[in-house]
Amino acid sequence: MQANTQNKLNVATPLHVRFAAMNLIRGSDREQRLFLPECVEDYVGADNMVRFIDAFVDSLELAAAGFAFPKENSQNRGRPGYDPACLLKLYLYGYFHQIRSSRRLEAECSRNLEVIWLMRKLAPDFKTIADFRKDNAAAFKTVLRKFNQVCQKLELFGGELMALDGTKVKGQNAPDRNWSLTKLEKQNQKLEEQLEKYLKALELEESQPAPQPAPLSAEQLRQKIQQINEQQQQNQQKVQQIEALGQTQLSMTDPDSRSMKGAHGHVVGYNVQGVVDAKHHLLVITEVTNAPVDQGQLVPMVQSAKAELPAMEGADIVADGGYYKAEDVKTCQEMGMQVHLPEVNNSPSERAGLYGKKAFEYDQQRDLYRCPAGQELTKRREVLDKGRRLFSYDNPAACEQCALKGYCTKSGYRTVSRWEHEDILEQMTARVAAEPEKLAKRKTLIEHCWGTLKWILGGGFLLKGFKKVGAEVSLAHLVYNLKRALNVVGLEKLLAALGPDRGSGPEKSEKSGRAGVLGLCERAACALLQVLQWACWSISWEPRPTE
Ligand code: SF4
Repeated sequence: MQANTQNKLNVATPLHVRFAAMNLIRGSDREQRLFLPECVEDYVGADNMVRFIDAFVDSLELAAAGFAFPKENSQNRGRPGYDPACLLKLYLYGYFHQIRSSRRLEAECSRNLEVIWLMRKLAPDFKTIADFRKDNAAAFKTVLRKFNQVCQKLELFGGELMALDGTKVKGQNAPDRNWSLTKLEKQNQKLEEQLEKYLKALELEESQPAPQPAPLSAEQLRQKIQQINEQQQQNQQKVQQIEALGQTQLSMTDPDSRSMKGAHGHVVGYNVQGVVDAKHHLLVITEVTNAPVDQGQLVPMVQSAKAELPAMEGADIVADGGYYKAEDVKTCQEMGMQVHLPEVNNSPSERAGLYGKKAFEYDQQRDLYRCPAGQELTKRREVLDKGRRLFSYDNPAACEQCALKGYCTKSGYRTVSRWEHEDILEQMTARVAAEPEKLAKRKTLIEHCWGTLKWILGGGFLLKGFKKVGAEVSLAHLVYNLKRALNVVGLEKLLAALGPDRGSGPEKSEKSGRAGVLGLCERAACALLQVLQWACWSISWEPRPTE
């Protein structure tokens, strides 16, 4: 009986009463009067990163950067538009904290003290916030460039070793809204098979004098046939659309996105390319492409990185085998860059289990190859292959009597071809062999960036089209570099790098005065009022709120 009463008490008594005797950290009474700071400035600490976002954006010439300013009404009518600086600050803060949706940013404006400080209590609606990103998509790249200049001022870029890589990020296009010629062809084949099946069944049904029990009636079969015909017509239209665009794919929701093979299967989205500097793992440049493979991206990325960071003259560029293209290696070499790519086995002989090209030694002095049997293969012919000038080396007489012929060729004699600029590729192979640690560093450099970038862009892009997706990448890139810079040099040095004209808005000068004299007076007055109020309650001049 006693135990039952005890149980009932335990169930009925609230937790905070049951554990009242325990020594725990608890919150304060919700109805207690608080002496909260009256000044928004006091909610944000001196070491808070929002101070950098605020000062950085205030230091920018936003009109020159390409941001659209609201039109001024000559008669001063209508509600004025929001300052683009405020909205830019909001986006930088949002991407820094993985908040990208305009509706979520709108909510933060009224519940997040840091945002309230940053936005000076402004709370634009989600449409205004969304339109700002959409309308100023191209200008975000200029803001990123300005931040990279701050990083350059702080010597955060080394410009000696760079890693290039690409990552596939999901776009706003569902896989079943993306069509390739191959996909359509396969689907047409299936439709053709189904059509044949239904036509046969219909013919059988119509040839029978009396209706027989069948899985589908003649009427149902006719409907199925009509559906297939309509589907075939739609597919035909899609093929025509793809051919008219001169593309290989058609994405219905986001026309710029493409289906491509990612690390975890196929994604419909974009291939984001990036060059990272080895000194502090800062991203030098990012570009958005819809190329399904990385081959062909080496030269444009190195050119963009060089334009961004002129100090990288003579830098070593490391990348994976996906970027291997002989002409690109030559162009980079001409630009003064030392490319390090792993050797790619594209020798058909080696794949067939025969001696590969590596088994043949080139004699530069005499311009001939020495084969595994020690025979000399001399230059015979010149051919043009996809715009490249190649020379063929062979020795038919030696091959005819060679004991190793079975390991070397399946034809009458072995031919070795050489590109006119093959020495550039040989120099690269020698460079990689001499400094393998540089290529080995590639993964550790770039994977860190992609991990953070994908965390910021969690779930893929929110916007559609190259321009707007580019804006998202620029924001994510800036935020990644800002995180790194804060970790490496800290807030104080970053603020100092903005220079004396960094400013923090028009009230900057009045802020210190206000905090110093007016702020103190205000707080003293508030405290006095509170004390008076409590004194009134104590002597019961007026009823005290529920305790
Ligand atoms: S088959 Fe010709 S090229 Fe090959 S090892 Fe023999 S001699 Fe040399």
